[in-house]
Amino acid sequence: MSDTPAQSSKSSIPAPILPGATLGVLGSGQLGRMFTIAARRLGYRVHIYSPDSDTPAGQVGDVERVAAYEDLASVREFASGVDLVTFEFENVPSATSQAAAERVPVRPAGSVLHVTQQRLREKTFLQEYGFPVTPYRRIVTLDDLAAAACDLGLPAMLKTASFGYDGKGQQRLLPQSDLASAHAALRGAEGIFEAFVDFECEISVVAARSPDGSFQAFPVFENSHQNQILDVTVAPARIPEAVAAEAVRITRGILEALDAVGLITVEMFLTRTHQLLVNELAPRTHNSGHLTIDACVTCQFEQQLRAVCGLPLGSVALREPAAMANLLGDLWIEAGGTPDWAAALSDPAVKLHLYGKTEPRAGRKMGHLTATAPTAEEAIRKVRDARDQLVPSRRQRR
Ligand code: AMP
Repeated sequence: MSDTPAQSSKSSIPAPILPGATLGVLGSGQLGRMFTIAARRLGYRVHIYSPDSDTPAGQVGDVERVAAYEDLASVREFASGVDLVTFEFENVPSATSQAAAERVPVRPAGSVLHVTQQRLREKTFLQEYGFPVTPYRRIVTLDDLAAAACDLGLPAMLKTASFGYDGKGQQRLLPQSDLASAHAALRGAEGIFEAFVDFECEISVVAARSPDGSFQAFPVFENSHQNQILDVTVAPARIPEAVAAEAVRITRGILEALDAVGLITVEMFLTRTHQLLVNELAPRTHNSGHLTIDACVTCQFEQQLRAVCGLPLGSVALREPAAMANLLGDLWIEAGGTPDWAAALSDPAVKLHLYGKTEPRAGRKMGHLTATAPTAEEAIRKVRDARDQLVPSRRQRR
């Protein structure tokens, strides 16, 4: 879905930031790495701000500045050396994006970061604007938790309000769960209690919005998780067209309500009664969008770049159905060393992406595989087969 507003007042639209300019990225993981690769392809220079050295993004950037996000003098100096700042990690403190904004434009703006980096704030924003969400309650005390369990029922999800991702800081509460120990596990942090969603599938919409209000959404992605971490994504999602159109309509409304400039991801549940509920927002590119690199005319990273730089948005057309499988550190552990890359690539329709991380740990995202095929089912089969080829013991089981 794409659109350019007819009545944008040209004078208030900032001039585009053109190839040859230097972009600053706050954060240095794989999202920053793939953004940097796309930006360099278009002739930009990229400086990475990172709390660590030799990072996935730092390895491919022009400059890797190693400093803490809280070191605001360093952030200001970093911003002074670039034409625009964007980020790939939403848990950057608000003060950090504010310090950068004193020097250059920050896109998406700190206000978007503020809403999306705290689950309670995010859910409250969504609910106030009338976007569909599962019922939730704020949890501080054990009494709050008992009251929420009584009001909204069990099973349910209890999550820390801040700094949660990939299932970290999340507990599934069952009718027999001990609420006191669940509350203790929050360790004094503010929590959010969410009514459990009995979903048919999980989907995500990755969409971009430009300074002039132009909007483009990638085809809807269908996601399956293992241990609350994304495992496989397929595009296009195998859902009715009307549901996909509604998901894009909701996403557009959210980007407009946030007045976001940049690329935002909206994760949603499709319930068994065919209702869409927004689960979470990410003010950035998303793991589910990785297949766009190999399957779409414009990938999500180039689209982020086009949106934040004020260039025309690119075509999001899917060239062929595609599936992406994450490669977690568990594969290295299972293989007892380096996975068998050549075996996974024996199917020429399979593409390998590795993030330059040297320490494989359980649950750590080390890379991904993408497969394209004439149908979504075939793409899923190919990418799963290729991933099994990586580990000798899995190969023998097939
Ligand atoms: P999140 O970090 O909120 O994206 O949650 C990670 C995963 O946990 C989701 O992708 C779902 O698979 C599951 N999950 C999270 N919240 C709920 C919920 N309220 N009901 C059912 N499943 C959930």
